[in-house]
Amino acid sequence: MSDWIGRTVTSDTGWEHLERLVDVGSRMAGSDGERAAAAATRDALAAHARNAHLDEFDIRGWTREGSALTVGDDDHDCIALPRSPSTAASGEFVDLGAGLPEQFESRDLTGDVVMVTSDAPSWFERTVHRREKYYRAAEAGAAGFVFRNHYPGGLAPTGSVGSPDAPIGPIPAVGVSKEVGARLARRHDGDHATLSVDAGIGAATSQNVHADVGPDTDAEVLVTAHVDAHDISEGAMDNGAGTAMVVELARILAEREDELDTRVHFACFGAEEVGLLGSQYDADARALDDVTAVLNLDGVVAARTLSATTSGFDALTDAVEAVGARFDHPVSVDPSIGSHSDHWSYVARGVPGVHLASDTGDIGRGWGHTAADTLDKLEVRTFREQAVLVAALAVDVADDSFSVAHAAPADVAAACEEQGVAPGLKATGDWPF
Ligand SMILES: [Zn+2]
Repeated sequence: MSDWIGRTVTSDTGWEHLERLVDVGSRMAGSDGERAAAAATRDALAAHARNAHLDEFDIRGWTREGSALTVGDDDHDCIALPRSPSTAASGEFVDLGAGLPEQFESRDLTGDVVMVTSDAPSWFERTVHRREKYYRAAEAGAAGFVFRNHYPGGLAPTGSVGSPDAPIGPIPAVGVSKEVGARLARRHDGDHATLSVDAGIGAATSQNVHADVGPDTDAEVLVTAHVDAHDISEGAMDNGAGTAMVVELARILAEREDELDTRVHFACFGAEEVGLLGSQYDADARALDDVTAVLNLDGVVAARTLSATTSGFDALTDAVEAVGARFDHPVSVDPSIGSHSDHWSYVARGVPGVHLASDTGDIGRGWGHTAADTLDKLEVRTFREQAVLVAALAVDVADDSFSVAHAAPADVAAACEEQGVAPGLKATGDWPF
């Protein structure tokens, strides 16, 4: 019965695919690297699953060319944030600390170059996403946006701007390291600043990867990840590991196909990092009534404790906790709404979805979205352990004895309001209801 576990904890299938992905080079949305990674993933899935294929869609492409930040008399190291416009701005440099909503309301920022940190203070009731700070700055009249890392180590953070309606943001945006940000705050608040971004912007194509295992039912369990990554790193943790784990799961579930009552559909999306574009495209095209649940893997090998954000779907909370109990393996479940990865494209339409990641404690995103998101940070043992747990979860969710009701989108919207998630989604043009 547990032979599959022995084979999983000695398998190289997923890890070898992870090495293949990080060796591609940049997997930025719309790039040749993203295309090569998607094709390699299709081929890897085809070894275990049927109907492996790519589905292309159009996006607004963005490629990094250069950026510069001069404040006072000094030049400061920075990197452009993807989907920043290719333009320059100058004005008074303003350090706005964490950039909480009320900090924007209480100041006139017309024509200023505004710096905020990548975190929010622990006393504040919710996380405040980069894009919310960016759009509040633009709304307040800022000419430029500087995003300051809150993790030490000299690493500038990336992360996209842009909205569903306007893929390229309104004001130029760069990221600076914690150390550069601290120096700017200490020495240069109120000085004159000039910020410029050079980027290639134009039509581009991304693609999703699909394949199936299990019985040929109309009902399907989606097991998903995103193939694309930010161009400044290997994108090992975010999210080469998730895509590689989908390949490992295809191997395991093909072996356990007799145990599946419902078809398992694998989808590895393109263009997640620039606005969940691949999953939005897929959710628009898919018969969502047939989707039992979405198991979305994003950040799943960062640490040994599996984390699950279940967006109010209690049956998914119970399913994850049951797997943890069965294996005596720590899992941490957060039942609140999670809106920052591809499951959200389905959850917002009422489809039960869970975001599976790793409990990294106070480290949070850690190396993610910096140049240091590289393979050396990950461990094969963690990959294999998580593959065992996620495979067990997928088999449980694909069993006839499991059921979870779809939600009314209005109830998901109400939960967003109750949990304080709504203002952020509205500020960035992402409110889907
Ligand atoms: Zn991700």
